[in-house]
Amino acid sequence: MDVDDSIECISTSDDSLLSSQFSSTQPYFNNKSSNGVHRTTSVHQLLECPVCNNSMYPPIHQCHNGHTLCSTCKTRVHNRCPTCRQELGDIRCLALEKVAESLELPCKYCSLGCPEIFFYFSKLKHEAVCNFRPYNCPYAGSECSVVGDIPQLVTHLKEDHKVDMHTGCTFNHRYVKSNPREVENATWMLTVFNCFGQYFCLHFEAFQLGMSPVYMAFLRYMGDDEDARNYSYSLEVGGNGRKLTWEGTPRSIRDSHKKVRDSHDGLIIQRNMAVFFSGGDRKELKLRVTGRIWKEQQNQESGVCIPIDCS
Ligand SMILES: [Zn+2]
Ligand SMILES: [Zn+2]
Ligand SMILES: [Zn+2]
Ligand SMILES: [Zn+2]
Repeated sequence: MDVDDSIECISTSDDSLLSSQFSSTQPYFNNKSSNGVHRTTSVHQLLECPVCNNSMYPPIHQCHNGHTLCSTCKTRVHNRCPTCRQELGDIRCLALEKVAESLELPCKYCSLGCPEIFFYFSKLKHEAVCNFRPYNCPYAGSECSVVGDIPQLVTHLKEDHKVDMHTGCTFNHRYVKSNPREVENATWMLTVFNCFGQYFCLHFEAFQLGMSPVYMAFLRYMGDDEDARNYSYSLEVGGNGRKLTWEGTPRSIRDSHKKVRDSHDGLIIQRNMAVFFSGGDRKELKLRVTGRIWKEQQNQESGVCIPIDCS
């Protein structure tokens, strides 16, 4: 009886050791059946790059002595095998590549909620467009490398970029610039709106469109494109008895600020018109932009063509 107990005890601790090692190196397989786990664990250890410990995918390289390494590490090791210090050369390890291609792997954003599982190459394609992938910081005007989900980015915009936050679906904004002669690419502003439980970025900026200086205002939706299509917005600017209006669908922040700007998907105001709206003394730019965001009815036609994709 004592012997039985101790055997049982050993096998239990072995199991838990195995699964804890496993989950630290490869958390993705936790959902698989225990059979699947045990088989893929060893294959996965084979596919672990000995240099960076990441999983290796084609192209997988090896030295003359058969030591393998991933393609990222290969570019960093100056043609020396990190394991045996021999010259590395340019040898692919096709057998291991085939093994890697045959494995089904979860999307790399599975920890963010994506349930999808793919073979390697379709996994790469999916990950480029996965709805669970983090968003880039929507702040324009500086190279900001922060990524995250929407609540994280809202906090980041507030705290790190000191962006103005507004609640409500209508707005009335005044942009004042002392010298309207100066139009530089770097002149821009961002305001974040919170309405319908969603966040929207209102961009306003001055830039050179061809030969003419213009001002542009547009809205981006902090979320994915398919959800952005549930909303519409209008912008209006005017003065001296004239006005310009724009009505559009906010673009997802998946589309970069520059991409939206360069597709002219927003309210564009020529500088001379902007000066006219300002009161015409040409000393100061004073633009009053009013706007509204509303929710469209559900089940609208999908696959709406975005201007930049139509050209
Ligand atoms: Zn590596
Ligand atoms: Zn070697
Ligand atoms: Zn995914
Ligand atoms: Zn940022």
